[in-house]
Amino acid sequence: MADYEAQIVVIAGGPSGLSAAVQAAEDGADVILLEKNAAVGGAANMGMGPLAIGSHYQQRQMIDITVEKALNMFMEYTHYNVDGRLVKRYFEQSAETIEWLEDMGVEFEGAYKYFTKSEATWHIVKTDQGIGPRAASFMNKALYDRALELGVQVMLETPAKKILKDEEGKVCGVLATNKEGKEIEIACKAAIICCGGGGANPDFIKEQTGYTFGVDMFNFAVPGNVGDGIKMAWEAGAAQVPVRIEQAANFEGIDELPQSVPNVLMQPNLLVNKFGKRVMDEEQMQNTTYLSNAASHQKGRVLYSIVDTTIVKDYIRNGVDEISMVRFNPDVSDFFEGVEIAEKTGNKGLFKADTLEELAEKCGIDVDNLIETVDDYNDYCDGYDEEFFKRKKYLRPLTKGPYYAAAVRPGGYGTVGGIRINENCECCDDDYEPIPGLYAAGADACNLYDDSYMFLLPGNSMGWAVNSGRIAGMEAAEYVEDEED
Ligand SMILES: Cc1cc2nc3c(=O)[nH]c(=O)nc-3n(C[C@H](O)[C@H](O)[C@H](O)COP(=O)(O)OP(=O)(O)OC[C@H]3O[C@@H](n4cnc5c(N)ncnc54)[C@H](O)[C@@H]3O)c2cc1C
Repeated sequence: MADYEAQIVVIAGGPSGLSAAVQAAEDGADVILLEKNAAVGGAANMGMGPLAIGSHYQQRQMIDITVEKALNMFMEYTHYNVDGRLVKRYFEQSAETIEWLEDMGVEFEGAYKYFTKSEATWHIVKTDQGIGPRAASFMNKALYDRALELGVQVMLETPAKKILKDEEGKVCGVLATNKEGKEIEIACKAAIICCGGGGANPDFIKEQTGYTFGVDMFNFAVPGNVGDGIKMAWEAGAAQVPVRIEQAANFEGIDELPQSVPNVLMQPNLLVNKFGKRVMDEEQMQNTTYLSNAASHQKGRVLYSIVDTTIVKDYIRNGVDEISMVRFNPDVSDFFEGVEIAEKTGNKGLFKADTLEELAEKCGIDVDNLIETVDDYNDYCDGYDEEFFKRKKYLRPLTKGPYYAAAVRPGGYGTVGGIRINENCECCDDDYEPIPGLYAAGADACNLYDDSYMFLLPGNSMGWAVNSGRIAGMEAAEYVEDEED
């Protein structure tokens, strides 16, 4: 005899789970939502907002982005190594999802780019504190309130453990552990898995991606996101598809310093590997997925971003070259105070030296090569970047010590992918057949990017979470209704 009963159990209360629960309840289903943590919102509480294509904000801002354009970009970017039908459904729904969120009280600042070369698809949630990290927690709060209003029963501190199936192979329940540590069974006809991937589980990351957390991978590790959902789905018969890190480079240890320090070292100046060689047009550093990938390919999986005192002073006088919605302040006037803090606190990610030779030794970079690279680079600054064709406006010579360097390592927002789904967010087995009553959404089912996060359309990750949650919610509601008949 089950302890509880519902038509649909939504497993987890991040943006994908909350969206699934709201959508399913709006479509008439009786829903229980299980959340492992004491609060809902998941990783998205740290973020700023979802992607949309063709929203009324974009129309008003005269931003030329259509589903056709975004889909073509996406398919080219991923070499068609993804489910085009699913991507199309997600993009087609995304503009209406903005209105769906607005109807429950979410407000948006507008549609933004993350960095210059990206498209303005990032719909940043409006807060009472201006634009900034954690804005999306306001969206999660609105989703949560709407779920409660619709009668969704939310059980906090209640991690799900197992999907139960009947003799016909249909989902018939979920096992979980309640607040008191007691195992509970919830009878249901459908379950939607939305557990946010396994970014906080070093063993899972190692096993699935080959990276060693804290050694060559420095991703955000959101407590509770340890791969539960993916494992439950696999155990219930869903096919395994690759789990990836949703890569975004990490400036080791320097994000804790005043923002002027990472802000200066994120600028598109000289970037070298351990051999003292350049590896890319540094303008692309703003796309932190590309930067993380580039770092992953190097010896020691590390790159060094280097500036000299003249560059820093110029930035202090005139502001930095590139800002983003995350690092939006061009004023870096407290850079030198930041360096002093780094020295006092024994910061391991920032290096300072009077000469390039000394800097190379401190960083473990080949000294002779670095000197040669800087010589060549300084020549390019007088003419043309023969090596990586960087635009003239970003070519600033390095001539005057002290010099500063920051270690750039692979990082990310967590893991994406793992569970095979179809365009209805149904979990599918090795034969591509849906497992009746089993759905997945959000990071657990985000098999969208092939090997690299699609940062050219920013907000993709949360956009996928909300939209896939909705798709799973509406499909599950329809399924349970059919099952009742
Ligand atoms: C710092 C940061 C900033 C970001 N900013 C953005 C942004 O601005 N735009 C964007 O598109 N993306 C952003 N992202 C990524 C985005 O937040 C995620 O893609 C999104 O939150 C994924 O949603 P989700 O619902 O799949 O998982 P999550 O939001 O991670 O939620 C997963 C939930 O599952 C719960 N859970 C885990 N296991 C269980 C279990 N066994 N039973 C019950 N519950 C369980 C967890 O406690 C958690 O609440 C950011 C990520 C980070 C880390």
